[in-house]
Amino acid sequence: MVALAATLLGCSRGSTDEAGAADVAKLDCPHEAWRKALQPAQYEVLFEEGTERPFSSPLEKEKRTGTFVCAACALPLFESKTKFDSGTGWPSFWAPIAGHVGTSTDYKLILPRTEYHCARCGGHQGHVFDDGPKPTGKRYCNNGVALAFVADGEPLPELRSCPA
Ligand SMILES: [Zn+2]
Repeated sequence: MVALAATLLGCSRGSTDEAGAADVAKLDCPHEAWRKALQPAQYEVLFEEGTERPFSSPLEKEKRTGTFVCAACALPLFESKTKFDSGTGWPSFWAPIAGHVGTSTDYKLILPRTEYHCARCGGHQGHVFDDGPKPTGKRYCNNGVALAFVADGEPLPELRSCPA
């Protein structure tokens, strides 16, 4: 199954975005607009690719059923059924909502890592590693401050346009 998925991704026109990402219309806002609209800690992670301190996010312990949306533009990125306790101190998931995150290679550390971001606004969310649980074997290690949680039964927020 994983091999099949890898094969399918390998056929996707050389884009670094995952299959289906083309379905999400991009929102290209000036970073300055986001800087004014977001909390400083959110802005630093989302648009300066910062990393929050481990165990600092209440979402790490979030166990309810619901949806995790981008803290900038409100695009749903993860469902609670893919969340697991990685013990790392960051909210961790084994799969994003298909097509809702894009990836790129980050060379900030000596070993290249794969960073991933919201497919809509481009806001950085975290890094993906190959040591996750079944069924994907992936670990999406997410900054909690870059997400907002919406419990089942609550309405999802409307997708946000560029802040004024
Ligand atoms: Zn977003």
